[in-house]
Amino acid sequence: MGDIALNLRATLAVCATLALAACNNAPQSSPLATEGVTDAMLAAGNGDEWLTYGGGYDEQRFSPLTQISAENVGELGLAWSADLDTARGQEATPLMYDGTIYVSTAWSMVKAYDAKTGALKWSYDPEVPRETLVRVCCDAVNRGVALYGDKVYVAALDGRLIAINMADGTEVWAKTIVPDQESYAITGAPRIANGKVLIGSAGAEYRARGSIAAFDAQTGDELWRFHTVPGNPADGFEDDAMEKAAETWAGDWWEFGGGGTVWDSITFDPGTNLVYFGTGNAEPWNPNTNDRGLGDALYTSSIVAVDADTGEYAWHFQETPEDRWDFDSNAQITIGDVEIEGAQRRVVMHAPKNGFFYVLDARTGEFLSGEAFVPVNWASGLDPETGRPNILPEARYEQTGEVFLGTPGLYGGHTWHPMSFSPQSGLMYIPINNTAMPYLADEEFTGTEMGGQMGLDFASVAMPANKEARAAARKATTGALLAWDPVTQKEAWRVPYPGPSNGGTLSTAGNLVFQGTAGGEFRAYSADTGKQLWSFPAQTGIIAAPMSYSIDGEQYVAILAGWGGLWDMHTGILANVSGPSRNISRLLVFKLGADGTLPEPPPINERILDPPAFKGTAEQVALGGKLYAPNCSGCHGDAAISGAINPDLRHSGAISSEEAIRAIVIDGALEHNGMVSFKRNVDAADAEAIRQYLIKRANEDKALEMAAG
Ligand code: CA
Repeated sequence: MGDIALNLRATLAVCATLALAACNNAPQSSPLATEGVTDAMLAAGNGDEWLTYGGGYDEQRFSPLTQISAENVGELGLAWSADLDTARGQEATPLMYDGTIYVSTAWSMVKAYDAKTGALKWSYDPEVPRETLVRVCCDAVNRGVALYGDKVYVAALDGRLIAINMADGTEVWAKTIVPDQESYAITGAPRIANGKVLIGSAGAEYRARGSIAAFDAQTGDELWRFHTVPGNPADGFEDDAMEKAAETWAGDWWEFGGGGTVWDSITFDPGTNLVYFGTGNAEPWNPNTNDRGLGDALYTSSIVAVDADTGEYAWHFQETPEDRWDFDSNAQITIGDVEIEGAQRRVVMHAPKNGFFYVLDARTGEFLSGEAFVPVNWASGLDPETGRPNILPEARYEQTGEVFLGTPGLYGGHTWHPMSFSPQSGLMYIPINNTAMPYLADEEFTGTEMGGQMGLDFASVAMPANKEARAAARKATTGALLAWDPVTQKEAWRVPYPGPSNGGTLSTAGNLVFQGTAGGEFRAYSADTGKQLWSFPAQTGIIAAPMSYSIDGEQYVAILAGWGGLWDMHTGILANVSGPSRNISRLLVFKLGADGTLPEPPPINERILDPPAFKGTAEQVALGGKLYAPNCSGCHGDAAISGAINPDLRHSGAISSEEAIRAIVIDGALEHNGMVSFKRNVDAADAEAIRQYLIKRANEDKALEMAAG
């Protein structure tokens, strides 16, 4: 007995000091906030204030405010605006507490503004090293802060969780919470549950092993961590959930980390005391790369529920078994009480990248219903009992060895762009994408030292310099605002958009839905019919979601504008399919009767291609193209055509000089801008081949421009 007691005491001591994941079974209590933002305020949900990323624990993003309504929204005008000191994608939802707006911007900076006047109260910069960008798939974005007690919490791109004094913006503590800084980045908004701060990380394209962890809000001490995929069995499993998950993998899956990262949705339900979160793709995408076989690869591309106090596994529902398409299940998880077959059910509602809308029982994860909300060609449907997809053989591209043109593609039918649920209309308002992606396995890929580890042959499916092919791709790539009834699993109405990656939505008790567009408008629609009622020219594409608050009897609507993110960075000729794009990063705040204006925007640069003559060899172009696709296209665009955020290398003066390109690619001359040295992946001859590929591409597109007149 004595030994057992001693061991127990020792174990608890280790738990307390190291907060080991193996200690999950010991309940972890944290002191609750008694001042400032309290648990009771968070549980009450949003009213005059907007206290959490999703507008309340239910993540419905529904405002009960009615002053601005479908009848008078035409009188909405700009109350104030604030220009931001960054020019990258803005994805955050502002929070409002006690007359102050707290908002994170690109590079994980945080600002506090007087919510009525727009006066800047303080600004906090975590000084994220710019070279962090090389392990980030989708721009230097941050989706928001959390408020609790007297602190503001932000998770920085470089893997730190930071507590800031709400009153003056000074840093209270900052802790690196990811295992290493080569593979992990954080873009998501922290959430609060019972005195704990919850956050996961991104990185499932970069050898990451996914997890979500809880930290004491006062001290930052780690209290529990739930891994989403099993590690090397030789090291022992952290819990039973990992042991079970390991049965669904084969080969040496842990060598690439396994993926399953928790990079966006985290939902705390005080009713069940469960935390629900979505997990990302299995890593690498191509299952042949690590011989993981055709197993489910748990708990990737799933919704997982764990106990909020201990992090102990409660249930999981895998939306995409054997994921090889990057069908992250990270999109927002909304909870609600809806009537299903005559009974009120507490449900989880989810519209992940894979294109199916799911309704699950919140307590058990039981599948209640699921239907495709965008065209889907990787599965013929869902099993009506279990919700498991019937995967079509042609979608297993690594088995067929053929190109699979998948819909949705890696951008997803719907991803992090927030949706909103109106209990008034019973509808979910989802920013959807109609996109395709050609998947082709790279059978020679065995991993690289840095960068993405997808195992796909991106070079062979890059967009050709062909007018008809490009026109067809642009025509097939669209978006929409979709109003979806989760009970009947049917569309109520839609507003079509010319392109994907439009902003998140807010619905209000004034029978309104607000949404910004990729084309640069901020709009209001009637929530019941979808009729457009109001629009404001935002001068830049909007990807973030709006929120609403009220001060001194006046209702406001706020939105962070600023084009960027995944769509702009990767998609080449499709990046501007919604229209010419540029980034003007700005917080816009509206109220009835206001008549504020924005300064005249700078013109959109329409540059004419003027490349040096091509003097390289066909072999260099082939090698350069093969190297460009995995190493460069993630930031500089498919087929060397960039969007609005990063430099278009066809226009770069550096491609005229072998020495200049070598200085950048090998010696890291532009590291301060985020362009790190790639010498671990490429040598000097490779860099020269990439240069010749860029010159060739620029000349091909120049010829297309000339032909078009
Ligand atoms: Ca992913």
